[in-house]
Amino acid sequence: MKIAIVGTGYVGLVTGTCFAEMGNDVCCVDIDDHKVDRLRQGQLPIYEPGLEVFFERNLREGRLRFTTVLEEAVLPAEVVFLALPTPPRGDGSADLSAVLQVAAQIGSLLAAEPEPRYRVIVNKSTVPVGTAARVRRVLEEAGAVAFDVVSNPEFLREGVAVDDFMKPERVVIGTSSEHAARLMTGLYEPFVRQGNPILVMDERSAEMTKYAANAFLAAKITFMNEVANVCERLGANVDQVRIGIGTDSRIGKQFLYPGIGFGGSCFPKDVKALVHTSNEAGYQFEILEATLRVNERQRRRLAEEVVSHFGGTLKGRRVAVWGLAFKPNTDDVREAPSHYVIEVLLAAGADVVAYDPEARETTRQVLGDRIAYAESEYGALEGADVLVICTEWNEFRRPDFGRMKRLMKAPLIFDGRNLYDPKRMASLGFDYHSIGRPHYESETSDVLADERSTVDRSDSVS
Ligand code: NAD
Repeated sequence: MKIAIVGTGYVGLVTGTCFAEMGNDVCCVDIDDHKVDRLRQGQLPIYEPGLEVFFERNLREGRLRFTTVLEEAVLPAEVVFLALPTPPRGDGSADLSAVLQVAAQIGSLLAAEPEPRYRVIVNKSTVPVGTAARVRRVLEEAGAVAFDVVSNPEFLREGVAVDDFMKPERVVIGTSSEHAARLMTGLYEPFVRQGNPILVMDERSAEMTKYAANAFLAAKITFMNEVANVCERLGANVDQVRIGIGTDSRIGKQFLYPGIGFGGSCFPKDVKALVHTSNEAGYQFEILEATLRVNERQRRRLAEEVVSHFGGTLKGRRVAVWGLAFKPNTDDVREAPSHYVIEVLLAAGADVVAYDPEARETTRQVLGDRIAYAESEYGALEGADVLVICTEWNEFRRPDFGRMKRLMKAPLIFDGRNLYDPKRMASLGFDYHSIGRPHYESETSDVLADERSTVDRSDSVS
């Protein structure tokens, strides 16, 4: 099938590449010339595990193409996916200008065809309830006649996006057109051969399904963050509570890990948008309002503890930060909790040295030289007064604690991701603080008491 993808970001690029991998003929279009140039030259503009192999193969075999010209992609296509940004506006509502603008352009292109040919226009962006109807109106107003608009929300998770797209737990197709439903079902059948469902429903329910899913998960994380905060005060251990409740199948094991709040390009914006849409419909979605408030607080909490540990100021203190990406296995730093942590640290006067395996450049674009960037996790630790952990990259899980102690000025860690066992850390001589778990007095340890003279100075900071 001939497919056009409009918007070649995290969602559009994965969607286009995976459809090409299934033998479809895919043309992706983007307004960003530089991005399109790079893609044409075989360079991926994002880090997403597993994407490169599919991308290179399909580019080489001609099933995946890139352009900046909308009509080159849209006119030959039978199905046109809109994978455009829908960022939050000041009032929390989703900004639909890219979606509506492209819909109008597509409408004019279709209207100018001498013989109208049927197309399916698919909203893959996360859009408020009623957007499929708005897009349909825009296309009609531009003069397009033979088309259906389908809502097909995307549930992929950055970091495992290719796996999620290739084997989705479910595909949601919102349409009242039987023809469009058949066409879309055919397109997705190769992805659900293990029997996962393709759910066909009306457009509004499909749009709401996406928001409800993200809002539920954001609330679940936030609930657990609050449980952790209370555990700290009551002397309970949130790790044990987590296992205690997660074994209940009604609750489930996932999304129960407390931390420094949720971030990323989706949860904060989608929760805000659902609160806004609900308000417009005359309903106050109180649990989500609280979710946003608690998350705001949670993102700053750990950093504020660091500041108060040092008596209210970090002037002259060197703070190492491990992890900048909003979660592991991505270079995406949109709404990253690390950035909120860093802002608190900087405001208290700290010199921040950060390390992230993939998100250095994306962070540099936001924070510039307000912080220093280390070339390795150990490089960030040189002379640091404290380490703050913000992202749970696997490589941080079993570090060389002896080397860490030798590099740091003091063995002090604030861990926003609960990577280590508090008792063990105390026995290794670390003053180790985590989220919702007991803090143990550190013991003077022989285990790691190597001489400072053996410090490896090869870890450089840029
Ligand atoms: P993104 O910012 O990574 O990508 C959007 C792309 O669209 C950019 O490359 C941009 O240059 C391009 N673009 C903007 N205006 C354009 C126009 N007029 N014509 C052509 N291209 C244009 O965004 P994303 O993360 O891929 O998200 C896209 C949508 O998918 C959003 O609505 C988002 O909420 C939703 N979504 C995202 C994820 C995720 O994990 N990132 C998951 C599910 C759903």
